[in-house]
Amino acid sequence: MNYDVIVIGAGHAGCEAALACARMGLKTGLFTMNLDTVAQMSCNPAIGGLAKGHLVREIDALGGQMAKVADRAGIQFKMLNKSKGPAVWSLRCQSDRVLYRLFMRQIIENQNMLDLKQDTVESILEEDGCIQGIKTEFGLNYTASAVIVTTGTFLNGLIHVGFRSQQGGRISEFSSTGISASLRSMGFTLGRLKTGTPPRVDGRNIDFDRTTVQEGDTPPPVFSFETREITNPQVPCYITYTNNKTHRLIFDNLHRSPLYSGKIKGIGPRYCPSIEDKVVRFSDKERHQIFLEPEGLNTTEYYVNGISTSLPVDVQLAIVRSIAGLERVDMVRPGYAVEYDFVQPTELKATLETKRIKRLYLAGQINGTSGYEEAAAQGLMAGINAALKIQGRPPLTLERHEAYIGVMIDDLITRGVDEPYRMFTSRAEYRLLLRHDNADLRLREKGYQVSLVDEEIYGEFKEKEKTIENRKIQFSKTRLQPVVINPVLEKLGLQGRNEPISLELLLRRPEISYSLLDQLAGLDQTKPDIAQQVEIQIKYAGYINRQHEMIEKCKKLEERRIPHDFDYRSVSGLSAEVIQKLEKIKPENLGQAGRIPGITPAAVSLIMVMMEKQRRGKRSMKCE
Ligand code: FAD
Repeated sequence: MNYDVIVIGAGHAGCEAALACARMGLKTGLFTMNLDTVAQMSCNPAIGGLAKGHLVREIDALGGQMAKVADRAGIQFKMLNKSKGPAVWSLRCQSDRVLYRLFMRQIIENQNMLDLKQDTVESILEEDGCIQGIKTEFGLNYTASAVIVTTGTFLNGLIHVGFRSQQGGRISEFSSTGISASLRSMGFTLGRLKTGTPPRVDGRNIDFDRTTVQEGDTPPPVFSFETREITNPQVPCYITYTNNKTHRLIFDNLHRSPLYSGKIKGIGPRYCPSIEDKVVRFSDKERHQIFLEPEGLNTTEYYVNGISTSLPVDVQLAIVRSIAGLERVDMVRPGYAVEYDFVQPTELKATLETKRIKRLYLAGQINGTSGYEEAAAQGLMAGINAALKIQGRPPLTLERHEAYIGVMIDDLITRGVDEPYRMFTSRAEYRLLLRHDNADLRLREKGYQVSLVDEEIYGEFKEKEKTIENRKIQFSKTRLQPVVINPVLEKLGLQGRNEPISLELLLRRPEISYSLLDQLAGLDQTKPDIAQQVEIQIKYAGYINRQHEMIEKCKKLEERRIPHDFDYRSVSGLSAEVIQKLEKIKPENLGQAGRIPGITPAAVSLIMVMMEKQRRGKRSMKCE
């Protein structure tokens, strides 16, 4: 069987990659180890959260799938950070784990040009540095013009519960061994990372009176720009805490921890430590917060968020029962840690194609990231770029000022990873531009250009864009007379005016909201998403303009492309260490070169001078 694109793995990256390729008109094969775990949430049943919510909105704006499925499977939605500025607001939803994977599978099965197959890929086939296809466990060979590998935590996966360890990508699932060997034979260096998950408990015996209830927002906010309302019943989560007894149990059993005995070699996420790590590293803390999260609408299983652990099962049960509200619960699944192979993402171009093998793309946890959203975003970009390449169209890459997706991919390919990489708002230097609310304004056009956003949705978006611009003009032109505005200003403790003042200038004041002006000026009722955009864009115009100025300043470096065969050794003044780093990463432009750790502005200047010299040399040779 021949495919245009083969995607290996139907996790979060694989589903987005395969859907993107098929929707862009390519015959796509999606191969996965188990059809019943398509889009399985390996860890917490939740989508979004700080900075991750931004990624989900960006995926949606580009025409990806995650946001729509999250809206259909969501059972509690909460906008986080509402007390802070709009740049860091981010949506999180609790998901019904089963519904999420069923809905995603349904979409994949109904997608034209897409075949979903249960078969484990044993090796990746290449010839002379160019991809040829795959070979599967059932002994079948498939050819493809491009292959996208999205194998998550499965490559040589090794699961630990106490001192018992077993091969596996997730608990009760096999690990995948052949692909690591294939990648090694192509010259890729593989590293080892680790992640972990907490135990799940039977909710029938939770004493909820001993916990604090946490409701979602009403009405529930949505992820997708196309979702009109959330239809699932909404359920609460609960908060409780660890205590001295929990911490003592952990200290007393550290000698039985695979993490502390040195059995686990892979590096885990510093920002998302196991409970044994938290208790040891923050030994002065009297308690750690625990969220009890329902796994779904049709199950009594609860996810105990905050006690990820690989301690033995008997210790896990004792830890759980030491926590307020959980004294009588049964543990229905133990927590565990998993170690797996990953490829250093410095092996990749910004399109997520490998530098070593043409038309081989990697996306998701295999690139050293952690998280469903990070994986889905990479899957979408790898899918789009594989399709564009086959169609002979220019690639789609996103700059750091355009999207969190751009920040993530640039971080990965420029810096590499030394621990599982997750997205944080602090990673973005242009946070005020990369907001959750304006993902469509930033990226819809690009999604349309690559044919992932259909005409109707695009038309609605253009209408929205026009309305926002018109409303902003109206705000700059409409003036309120002192007699109208002064009573309001005085009520707010502000000084009255002698002259008329524009709505725009009034809205820039922190005390004055859009809705107040809407009423005062008697404007037609504005849709909430339009009102929000006008308000944010006017209120924060000063900061936003400053960020645009910074982008302009840096643009010159971003636009100076470094020839692929540029000889860094010809640049005098660069140290051997700097040359080694530049040769390894092969930055695509001077901006990226400057972001490689250890590359100073002086080194960038030296490269720039040499590039200029070579350019002049080539020009004068042409003249001769
Ligand atoms: P996955 O979702 O893992 O999907 C990989 C897919 O590839 C699977 O469908 C598998 O069947 C398939 N596959 C693998 N090998 C082959 C093959 N040879 N042939 C065919 N198919 C193959 N993320 C967080 O953000 N926070 C956490 O706390 C967290 N904890 C985690 C704890 C555990 C125990 C695990 C396993 C994961 C955890 N994650 C966590 C990570 C999160 O699950 C992943 O980041 C995310 O699922 C990665 O998506 P992916 O698409 O790259 O891979």
